[in-house]
Amino acid sequence: MEIRDTLQLRSFAEYKEAYQESISNPEKFWDAIAEKFYWHKRWDKTLQWDFTKPEVKWFEGGKLNITENCLDRHLEKLGNKTAIIWEPNDPDEESRHITYRQLFIKVCHFANVLKNNGIKKGDRVCLYMPMIPELAIAMLACARIGAVHSIVFAGFSSTAIASRINDSKCKLLITANEVYRGAKPVKLKEMCDEALKTTPSIETVIVYRRTVEPTPMQEGRDKFWFDELQKVEKECPAEIMDAEDMLFILYTSGSTGRPKGMVHTIGGYMVYTGYTFANVFQCDHFAPTNTIPQKKYDGDIYWCTADIGWITGHSYILYGPLAMGATTVMFEGVPSYPDYGRFWEICDKLNVTHFYTAPTAIRALAKQPIELVNQHDLSSIKVLGSVGEPINEEAWHWYNDNIGKGNSPIVDTWWQTETGGVMISPLAGITPTRPTFATLPLPGIQPVLMDENGNEIEFRSQQSEGRLAIKFPWPSIARTIYGDHQRYKEVYFSTYNNMYFTGDGAYRDATGNYRITGRVDDVVIVSGHNLGTAPIENAINEHLAVAESAIVGFPHDIKGTALYAYVTLHDGKQASDQLIQEIREQVSNTIGPIAKPDKVQFVTALPKTRSGKIMRRILRKIASKDTSNLGDTSTLLNPDVVQEIMDNAL
Ligand code: ATP
Ligand code: MG
Repeated sequence: MEIRDTLQLRSFAEYKEAYQESISNPEKFWDAIAEKFYWHKRWDKTLQWDFTKPEVKWFEGGKLNITENCLDRHLEKLGNKTAIIWEPNDPDEESRHITYRQLFIKVCHFANVLKNNGIKKGDRVCLYMPMIPELAIAMLACARIGAVHSIVFAGFSSTAIASRINDSKCKLLITANEVYRGAKPVKLKEMCDEALKTTPSIETVIVYRRTVEPTPMQEGRDKFWFDELQKVEKECPAEIMDAEDMLFILYTSGSTGRPKGMVHTIGGYMVYTGYTFANVFQCDHFAPTNTIPQKKYDGDIYWCTADIGWITGHSYILYGPLAMGATTVMFEGVPSYPDYGRFWEICDKLNVTHFYTAPTAIRALAKQPIELVNQHDLSSIKVLGSVGEPINEEAWHWYNDNIGKGNSPIVDTWWQTETGGVMISPLAGITPTRPTFATLPLPGIQPVLMDENGNEIEFRSQQSEGRLAIKFPWPSIARTIYGDHQRYKEVYFSTYNNMYFTGDGAYRDATGNYRITGRVDDVVIVSGHNLGTAPIENAINEHLAVAESAIVGFPHDIKGTALYAYVTLHDGKQASDQLIQEIREQVSNTIGPIAKPDKVQFVTALPKTRSGKIMRRILRKIASKDTSNLGDTSTLLNPDVVQEIMDNAL
């Protein structure tokens, strides 16, 4: 029996039973799950917590190494199973298939490179790498020797790299010379060199040669990956770690402000990401009661399209799937190269069974001609996932109808960098889904809705709306913000007494299903009415000409705040006064006249974070004509568009 078989819930009744147990006896519940993992020594205390400090500790006294759980323990039975399938940017280049045994060997070998370069348990290592297997190898190699990885998305500027390196005083940097993403080369090493001018803590740089282009190297500091491998042995015993030792630091997307360096620790993170991966996606498992039809192939191929530079990639490309012995796909490229059919071409080619992406990608792909989907055979797909933003109704249906062909459940997974793993989501094929609803909390998660006065909204048999908080710790909650525990306390634990505040708003329907409406600071008060931006955007997006929209408030003499809509159109659609009228009518008919935007600006694109989230805080400033200081824009994907929007602002 594989570990996933011992963890997977098999029916809705089993889910409900597990949920009940996890609430009435959390420690016993998590003990039973954690026992399924491999530990050198059992923990002394399951949970210790105090949200007022705040302090959370899980499995204290337990000794383990996460890589033994992701690699060593699978060798006997799954050694020849593919762990990672790598799909290159260029469709003519060959895919790589790396088995669990091969991955194990590569990780141990590279771990010795880190040691040979002076890295010890507790040292921070920065990774600025493209989506290649060596990124996964480097992460796991850090974990093997107890070093802490801090991954910076390979697309961020030199300033962003430098500030993250300095924030956590990384000793070593791992990068690649350059990489192709789409048709464009990205000169990663050059970006690093610029950053390295202001990062005194870095002693060594290891460079993976991804292309044959020459790379400037600084004598003594910069070393090539392959040269370093020649100098060391292949075997590397795992460093025995404490459950509460740090596994990694990861910065949030920066949608709402300066990015926060979230700290995750080993034991709880491993247990929670493994457990949730097994249950949300139900890979390699079909319960008798399962409603998913068995499709083309036997072995499941799971593909999460996120970049490993985001928490989604950490938890659900790497650690969760590997802990559960799954086959996980890593894609180097972008959805638009060589054309917008690339995702579907890969699904077809690799027989992907589980496809997990973000609403922003779904909306971008839905804008394209449908032939780009239909020319590929998608019959291997069994389960679809969504993460990152609320998925609007139109995108949900497009995804369901065209990709899932109406018979692949969509798991809309709500969670955050801070939560480490999925918090609210259907279990594929088990939980009844409802369009745009993330549905029910996973076992162990105790969400609550809070009203404006800070009181808990009791569950009622009608829809309620409020701010989403969590009132009990779960194993993978971030333990602190690196170097700034005070900020951690202020941001998450000072809004409500003894609760973790998510910053998000939500609806809860009569059966207890949650629908996340977006950040609470995105709520706009128009003439005294609280209006969530998400439903208004949904209404606008329903218009056939509209691709995407963003709603923000701006100061208004009479209404206090009025609504400003930024709208992008489908290819070939023209902006016009007529269209503005139609959009306003559409909102009026769907939500009410109060929600009609006063201003509608057509834009070529919306400003987004690199992980694809709309940066409403920038749009808010433009709408309010307060553009002298746009705040932290280091995580912005398309800075050019900000200028365009400012130039044409109404
Ligand atoms: P920052 O915290 O720096 O402002 P961020 O919140 O965008 O950045 P992430 O941790 O990457 O950084 O994103 C978490 C947020 O993404 C959630 O708080 C929520 O607003 C949104 N989100 C993620 N998944 C979903 C989902 N399935 N449905 C709705 N919203 C989601
Ligand atoms: Mg956040």
